Amino acid sequence: MRCPNRILPPRCSGCGFRENMCMCELFAQTQNETHVIVLQQKIESYKPSNTGRIVHRVLKNSELILRGEKNHPVDICELQSRYHLAALYPYPDSLVLSPSLLSDLSLKLPPALIVFDGTWQQGSRMAKQLRDKGILFVKLPDRIHRTYWLRDSGADNHLSTCETVIQSLYLLGETEQAKVLEHVFQLFVQKHLKLRGKDIH
Ligand SMILES: [Zn+2]
Repeated sequence: MRCPNRILPPRCSGCGFRENMCMCELFAQTQNETHVIVLQQKIESYKPSNTGRIVHRVLKNSELILRGEKNHPVDICELQSRYHLAALYPYPDSLVLSPSLLSDLSLKLPPALIVFDGTWQQGSRMAKQLRDKGILFVKLPDRIHRTYWLRDSGADNHLSTCETVIQSLYLLGETEQAKVLEHVFQLFVQKHLKLRGKDIH
């Protein structure tokens, strides 16, 4: 029986595991070219299976912004003053990511890829808010399917946040960075599944 007064160590902000099980030292960091912004629904920050934090932990050129903080709305205008934003969401008219897409657009500011980190419904709401601000939307090709899962999203093509970024980096031609992130993500998933008593194949 679990002692009700047992105090658990806090969760590591880098990997999401309890600090006594932190696996961050196994993670390699990599310098990526395209700035990545993880727009994270606040409730995600409490979930150990969240993968958005892994993206930020591994990619040096990235930031993680919490959405849903009381009195701290996300300042899209501030982001727009620094970057030409491209949000990942599969609208029918979103542009399909490719190695030349962002350079072909002759952007005046460096591009930043926004990835939504929340449930499918939260992502949909976040996307609509950005769409109303006239932000560029990009998407992955339809053929990509997830290969790992920690949560059942109910659909085969609903990738986790980290998988979405891995595939985006491959499509943008940042192959080495994608491989580093993919390796860390596999370690993260394997550790989670091991804790749950499952094996991954
Ligand atoms: Zn950690």
